[in-house]
Amino acid sequence: MGTEHTTIFWFRRDLRLENHRALSAAAERGTIVPLFIHDASVEALGAASKMRLEMSLKALASDLEAHGLSMIFRRGDPHEVLSEMIAETGATAVFWSRRYDPAGVAIDTAIKEELSRDGIDARSFAGTLLFEPWTVETGQGGPYRVYTPFWKAVRARAVPDVLPVPKLVGMDKGPSSDQLEDWHLSRDMHRGRAIVAEHVQAGERSALNKLHRFIDERIGAYKAERDFLDRGATSELSDALSLGEISPAQCWHLAQRAMQEGEQGAEHFLKELVWREFAWHLMWHFPNLAQDNWRREWDAFPWIEDSSDPKFLAWCQGRTGVAIVDAAMREMYVTGKMHNRARMVAASYLTKHLGVHWRLGLAWFEACLVDWDAASNAMGWQWVAGSGPDAAPYFRIYNPDTQADKFDPKARYRRRWLAEPYEKPTQTALQFFEAAPQSWHLDSVEAPKAPIVALKEGRAAALAAYENFKSQ
Ligand code: FAD
Repeated sequence: MGTEHTTIFWFRRDLRLENHRALSAAAERGTIVPLFIHDASVEALGAASKMRLEMSLKALASDLEAHGLSMIFRRGDPHEVLSEMIAETGATAVFWSRRYDPAGVAIDTAIKEELSRDGIDARSFAGTLLFEPWTVETGQGGPYRVYTPFWKAVRARAVPDVLPVPKLVGMDKGPSSDQLEDWHLSRDMHRGRAIVAEHVQAGERSALNKLHRFIDERIGAYKAERDFLDRGATSELSDALSLGEISPAQCWHLAQRAMQEGEQGAEHFLKELVWREFAWHLMWHFPNLAQDNWRREWDAFPWIEDSSDPKFLAWCQGRTGVAIVDAAMREMYVTGKMHNRARMVAASYLTKHLGVHWRLGLAWFEACLVDWDAASNAMGWQWVAGSGPDAAPYFRIYNPDTQADKFDPKARYRRRWLAEPYEKPTQTALQFFEAAPQSWHLDSVEAPKAPIVALKEGRAAALAAYENFKSQ
């Protein structure tokens, strides 16, 4: 049994120890029982996210171990698991960090009510965002729908200071736990597992190291270089932010300091962090962001919605014949990530040249991204498709070749990810063939193909569909 002040700490996507308001509050009460529950929301994750989660949980369990605490892994309905754990440990409180997706909010609200009814101190805390989404309001008291005023409102506020790792005290003998490996969270990755894992650095310590390296070495050039596909000029923190291995506030304070020290690119980095914040602000206020066109008039647009459409499948498999799009799709398949500029170009080609609904693209990204973030993914897709808030207008259609000339002028990015055009393909380009499922029949490098939809024709067809849609 724990002390009279034992708290069950329910970890979700806040897998760190530093700057952790909820964990610090729990530590102040006394003994902590760290818990992760494999529930339906974990089951529903895409293959790559699930694998990335496993890597993060392993790192967190080892960090907790270093503080003398054993992470408890349990599987089942969260309310049932929490009730069992309360009975087993004598805990009088359950603490967690808030989440903001509609399904998560509904579950947490119900659990808080049920536990409170049973006399348990059930408390949720901020920590995943810079500010709680409902606290950033327009002058009229409503949500923001446009990014720039949102950015100005966030910039004007003080981000809370970073908290140190609290002193953690565990139970002498904790309750029983599943073995994380027995959950087989990487199973759905099939043969791509080892390859994608090679490109990932998981855990709080790696996230903090990455952040410091980025601030020390790259933030100055961030604004000028971030769009270039081959330069590695960005922070590469998105997967760590998505799992809460690091908090945006830690990034914010270090970047602010760099800005005050005169680093030119730092403010632009803050702006990108605020895009993430804006995505969650939108999802909180418009919970259907990942399902429905934000501008409902787009419901009438004649998108292709069939996921077995050959054009969609060719796009997923990086076989459209458009070099920059295929390079981008393969980068994602091999690393679990894709450069932001490449995401925009690949998403534009799918929704415009190929005429496929953004929802199908969103779902494929959800399956393949290790940095999958429900709100940023949904906002990104609706932004590119033209159906979202503050979105790029539909008629602004990226020309993939022009984008490649501009942002990959020496074709280094294409060379890194595409094998076909080159006599001696790079190691990374060949990894795609090792990772691709057997059902794609990609056993050897093929000859380069002509685009499945040529750029000029695809653009003309997209614009014609748009004209027709507008005149209805
Ligand atoms: P940096 O340039 O170093 O930026 C720092 C951080 O700011 C990022 O880690 C991220 O948390 C945030 N950020 C940067 N750009 C954006 C943006 N446009 N929208 C929201 N947040 C941003 N990002 C995800 O984290 N998960 C997703 O599932 C996701 N899906 C996307 C889908 C599409 C179609 C598009 C166009 C963009 C998507 N993005 C997504 C946003 C963006 O591409 C990634 O955040 C970025 O590429 C991550 O690289 P980085 O960590 O080096 O970013």
